[in-house]
Amino acid sequence: MALSQNVYCLSCGQTYISSTTEACSLCGAGGTLIDPERPEALRDLQLRRQQDASRLPQTSGEWFWSIVDTCLIRPFSALSVIGGLVLIGIFVWLLATETGPADEERRNVSGLEAVATFGILIVSAGLIFRGFVLWLTWKQVLVVNERRRAAEQAGTQRDA
Ligand SMILES: [Zn+2]
Repeated sequence: MALSQNVYCLSCGQTYISSTTEACSLCGAGGTLIDPERPEALRDLQLRRQQDASRLPQTSGEWFWSIVDTCLIRPFSALSVIGGLVLIGIFVWLLATETGPADEERRNVSGLEAVATFGILIVSAGLIFRGFVLWLTWKQVLVVNERRRAAEQAGTQRDA
């Protein structure tokens, strides 16, 4: 009977006590279980932690540049979002100025109110779509940045 021992899985990055070193009981991968004290395990674990932590921008500068990169990749969507926000601002302002005392003269401009409300709905739908496109692009930018950092890290580790 095999003795239970501490194992690290190179496939799923988990450390646990296992009675077998044949296959990972967590992710099912075979031949990926090694002693958690081995340098390969420590390096793999360190890399996973760095990947988790580095996926989100760490500084306001990184936030800024990841957003700038996103806008440069999708300039039309970025301009649409800015334009859409300005339009919604105008429509909201129109509605806000409409809600004064409701006298007869003001009834005439209730058509404008309808247009503004309709405009807000249309522009909001556009904003959600463009925002979604930008969000997906931003996630891609973060992954690209992460890969670049990982490559730089691998480079410095090789040099050391
Ligand atoms: Zn596993």
